[in-house]
Amino acid sequence: MKLAVYGKGGIGKSTVSCNLSIALARRGKKVLQIGCDPKHDSTFTLTGFLIPTIIDTLQAKDYHYEDIWPEDVIYKGYGGVSCVEAGGPPAGAGCGGYVVGETVKLLKELNAFYEYDVILFDVLGDVVCGGFAAPLNYADYCLIVTDNGFDALFAANRIGASIREKSRSHPLRCAGLIGNRSSQRDLIDKYVEHCPMPILEVLPLIEDIRISRVKAQTIFELAESNPELEEVCDFYLNIGDQILSGPEGVVPKELMDRELFSLLSDYYLNKTSQGEAEAEKETQNETDFLMV
Ligand code: ADP
Ligand code: MG
Repeated sequence: MKLAVYGKGGIGKSTVSCNLSIALARRGKKVLQIGCDPKHDSTFTLTGFLIPTIIDTLQAKDYHYEDIWPEDVIYKGYGGVSCVEAGGPPAGAGCGGYVVGETVKLLKELNAFYEYDVILFDVLGDVVCGGFAAPLNYADYCLIVTDNGFDALFAANRIGASIREKSRSHPLRCAGLIGNRSSQRDLIDKYVEHCPMPILEVLPLIEDIRISRVKAQTIFELAESNPELEEVCDFYLNIGDQILSGPEGVVPKELMDRELFSLLSDYYLNKTSQGEAEAEKETQNETDFLMV
């Protein structure tokens, strides 16, 4: 099974990816996570350090694929998850799609691409060009990470459009949305009312997740010494179990940009003005009470 995790920059794709990879490994699957962000920090909390990238290794070996061994580019991370970082073209030059293509080509030459039960691609930001949509060529399911805010849902909607486009030539489905760092989910719910897709899980902002990143560990590793964190691991185990059950998923019917903008802004402004009206009413009641 091939998974592609997408979402707005900084929304928590790599955090979800690493913990989801472990969750899948805990269910007995052989998992490979491929970081496809030029930031090359996707697998950082699995391995504890920034591993050499495929592109760096290819460059060092003058693009002689035959001189590269699996151990040069595939590193074992926490929980038995295998890790690869695709790397990136030099900043401001080249194409991310080329990098993903080279990565898959090398893994195939190393006979590694077909060795895993699950390959998870952790992909950079919003899909802004065909290049970063490249992992969708290989994926069975796309998972979209969002929060309960306009920008991330806007990006999610664009990613949905790319999935729909790719699904015309590939058997690709969107498994659903993952709400991250969200104590509320009303905007996410509003979005899926209009662009139906499953919501796999909604995670709040969890300070221990932030700390786990700084410690270069996943939440599963931290949970070994702090059993209270098993509750947090359950979020990821739940997502993993849903994926392993082979969900039907959807081919999203994205909203037009303007339609999405007015849907979310009308809802949000309405909610805010209602909230203000209620707050004003409450203040009025308090004032009335004081005057009595
Ligand atoms: P992305 O891969 O989308 O760029 P990251 O996974 O690197 O995003 O996450 C960005 C930051 O947010 C990291 O410091 C990470 O620890 C933090 N983070 C992610 N998810 C959560 C969460 N649920 N609660 C608190 N912090 C989180
Ligand atoms: Mg990332």
